[in-house]
Amino acid sequence: MKNIYMTIRSDAYNGALDTAIDTAALGVFWAFSNQEFEEGLAKHGYTVDQIVSIGGGGGYGNSEAVKKFHAAIEAQERRVFDIADPQKVYHYEYWNHECDYYEDDKEAACIVLGYFGIKRAERIGRRNAIKTWKELEAEMIGFRPIYNGVYRIEVSLADADKRAWYDPPEPKAVYTCEHCGDAIVDGAMFLLTNGGKFICEDCADNDIWYVLEKYFDIYKRMAGDVLPPPNLTV
Ligand SMILES: [Zn+2]
Repeated sequence: MKNIYMTIRSDAYNGALDTAIDTAALGVFWAFSNQEFEEGLAKHGYTVDQIVSIGGGGGYGNSEAVKKFHAAIEAQERRVFDIADPQKVYHYEYWNHECDYYEDDKEAACIVLGYFGIKRAERIGRRNAIKTWKELEAEMIGFRPIYNGVYRIEVSLADADKRAWYDPPEPKAVYTCEHCGDAIVDGAMFLLTNGGKFICEDCADNDIWYVLEKYFDIYKRMAGDVLPPPNLTV
């Protein structure tokens, strides 16, 4: 079944974004922890010195792979420029970025500006337009025109951030939840049954009626319900 969100996006972008970029084939990998970073290096046979960032979002590769990745993104942006309707893209991004809630269409307008350039952007209708196209264009620092007045984020390979994250240590597991089997970690709240069983806070929050019945002999009943608790059944 097609996801409605993707269907609307596909319509706005006229399918230009439908073909996902095969990052693995280009030699780019994604890492959000040291472990994933090490795995990415091993998978692609890179050494740490070769690694550059794609410029945000947790993507890495060697400089050749990152150049190919940016070329693929650029090709995708050109498809948007060539076949999408700026008004539809604006409308989709306006709701996607909750511009109505913020009463400012800046995010949607900047996306349109980025894809289509100011000449085409100026021709569309806007809602909650706080800043003019010229003001928005002036704010898009770090963007440069690449194609018919279209902008994209400038990425410097020299600015590559290498392994700039820190994994906090996992808190120590102290008990095991009788109900879901997850660890109850140091400092977490839990329920202790009369029989000495531990119930984690998640289970107590999400499944409390069932937990009370199963582990505490406490029964949820509806008024008028004639069933007595099982321990009173004759
Ligand atoms: Zn649990």
